[in-house]
Amino acid sequence: MEEAIKILPSTQWKSFNRARKYFKVYFLSHLLLADGCTVNPAVMNPTLSNHRYAGMRFPQERPTPEDFNLWTHTIRRITSSTLTISPPIGKYLRLCPEYLTWQTDSDNSYIVHRKNSTTFQVYYRIANLKGTRSQNTFQLHHTTTCPPPCSLTASVIPISRDIVTLHSVNTIEQDTTVHSVPFLTKLREGSPKHLWKGLQFDKDGEWVIQAIDNGSLLIAHDGSFMPQVDNTICAAGIVLLCTQTGHMGTIKLCERTNSLTASNYRGELLGGLITSHILRVASAYSSSTTATHIYCDNMGVIHHTSHPDASTSSKQPQADVLLAFTNNLKMSSLHWQYHHVLSHLDDTSDFKDLSLPEKLNVLADKLAKDALLEAIDKSQFCKPFYPNEHMRIVIDGEKVTATIKSTLYTSWGRRIARGLFARKEIIPAHLFELVNWTGLHLTIKTLPQMTQVWMTKHVSGTCATNKQLAKMDKNVIDKCQCCGRRNETVLHITRCPNKGRRLLFTQTTEELTSWMRRSYTHPEIVLAIGSYLRYRGRVTMKKICLEFPTLTQAAIETDLLGWRNFTEARLPHTLFSIQDAWLQTCGTRLTISSWTKQFLTRIINITRRQWLYRNAKIHIAHAEGIPFATHERIMNRTKSLMATDPMDLLPQHRSLLQVDYKTLGEGPTVDRQYWIACVESANMSKKRIRSSSKDEPNTSRKRSYLQ
Ligand SMILES: [Zn+2]
Repeated sequence: MEEAIKILPSTQWKSFNRARKYFKVYFLSHLLLADGCTVNPAVMNPTLSNHRYAGMRFPQERPTPEDFNLWTHTIRRITSSTLTISPPIGKYLRLCPEYLTWQTDSDNSYIVHRKNSTTFQVYYRIANLKGTRSQNTFQLHHTTTCPPPCSLTASVIPISRDIVTLHSVNTIEQDTTVHSVPFLTKLREGSPKHLWKGLQFDKDGEWVIQAIDNGSLLIAHDGSFMPQVDNTICAAGIVLLCTQTGHMGTIKLCERTNSLTASNYRGELLGGLITSHILRVASAYSSSTTATHIYCDNMGVIHHTSHPDASTSSKQPQADVLLAFTNNLKMSSLHWQYHHVLSHLDDTSDFKDLSLPEKLNVLADKLAKDALLEAIDKSQFCKPFYPNEHMRIVIDGEKVTATIKSTLYTSWGRRIARGLFARKEIIPAHLFELVNWTGLHLTIKTLPQMTQVWMTKHVSGTCATNKQLAKMDKNVIDKCQCCGRRNETVLHITRCPNKGRRLLFTQTTEELTSWMRRSYTHPEIVLAIGSYLRYRGRVTMKKICLEFPTLTQAAIETDLLGWRNFTEARLPHTLFSIQDAWLQTCGTRLTISSWTKQFLTRIINITRRQWLYRNAKIHIAHAEGIPFATHERIMNRTKSLMATDPMDLLPQHRSLLQVDYKTLGEGPTVDRQYWIACVESANMSKKRIRSSSKDEPNTSRKRSYLQ
């Protein structure tokens, strides 16, 4: 009766309670007759209250007329002005002595009133004036210790001391047929035991078949995925309810795969898979033609149920469970109907106000969440092996849960990469699996395409460093354009001592550390990575982490992989595991996957910005459209020509050396280019005349003539 407490001020609780105890009402169901919707007159009318029999003990109360008024008023508010509730509360879920006080047979030909455990009063129907049996009035006939058999509970309205009218009846229990192989045994057959650890059915579960036969079975299933807790697991909850007997069955399971497979959608499909397996097994027990109604809040799952024969695309995610799910539905001879139900309605409405399917969905959702948290707690997870799978493909020791094509590509790619990195002496083969490749893969997918191209060139060592260019073009000198050191390798990109490059390196490193501080990073990871970058990997991570025992293993592995792998975002798994555990203690919604992507992007950014700075120095056009290197060459040429001896030029050209050098130096490059061209041309003229005067003896005469 919490409903009454919710709507009444606390000052009226005492008064209301007096009436409640007087009428012997504890649950909402105590108010109602067997039809589940009509308020029993015996709990409204004080003169009829002696006819109430309750299995519970209530103290003696003497309510005042005001108490009764408040009671009547409140019950009307809880139910309706007509004293009925809609929809009905459903059938009795549990056997309760109270509901068995009045019973009748399936024909309602008599009513048995149980006075106590040994005394029963039998009422017979009174024929009406016309002698027909249309009237539901019964009169006390005799008292006995051995009552006739009854199969239904009854609600009666007392008319007088010995006369009652039958209001409504309800089922007591269903008879169940005992099958040679029990249904639940058959359900478990051929599948791993762990799959059914979370199965709980009322009684022996045979009622499921009866409920299918009667068309009274409802099933709801839901999935759960909490990547912030563990992104490699997902769970499912399945609820079965017989609306006639109130019998319930629940199944919950939590499966561990990997971060690329586990998802909310997979959780939903697991629920569907188990549900469809139930239908498939049950079809060997029942030939019912009435539909079993199934409720699910995922439109994707419902879509697949409407096309169970559709071929599965090679790119279909979760193909393993989806195929088993749709195949079970195809193979079941029973009729079923999938319905969409809105999820999480209990967030916005009271549970009691929800429809039965919505309530079942809420229960299934809760079951799935429980399964997930319980599995983590016990560290016990199901393997992705299910009944009726046509085939299981195992690659590298793991079952293929995504598309076969992409799994094969990934596996093949891993093998090729392992060989390539080993051949290029970037990562020895035995250290290959230390790297968090999954995190790196997810990160690279989020980068712009041109950055991905650069990454490929940089990692493979084919980017246009002067070391590479010098191999192809003998005019290129293998030295760094920024610091002038010889041998510009890929490694030099992150270790160039040029002042500008050092400044940029510090800036990008600080950007990373300040992001780490803002983003719930383990404080020791912030310090360790900050120091490692500051020393440019020349001090080992192990030495840096001497004071941080948590990071010892991660530090050893980082050192094994080395500086180059670090600056190209190939970091060990262990580091991310420590961060993952840390995130879970922070109570943040930031997932390890999201943290990894942002962290590795910033690491890659440190190296990329060095490369861009280097290129700006060599290639990037200035405002005048001239590359920096060309600009410098022009400046240098101008400087060297300024030192030309005027006597090396013909007299008519000597004025070229009398320009305002300050203006020339500060002015546009084109002026310098023009001046260089003039001086070089003047030089050439002088040289030509000098050489021709050597060849021809009468040159001096000609020249004097010319002059
Ligand atoms: Zn350099």
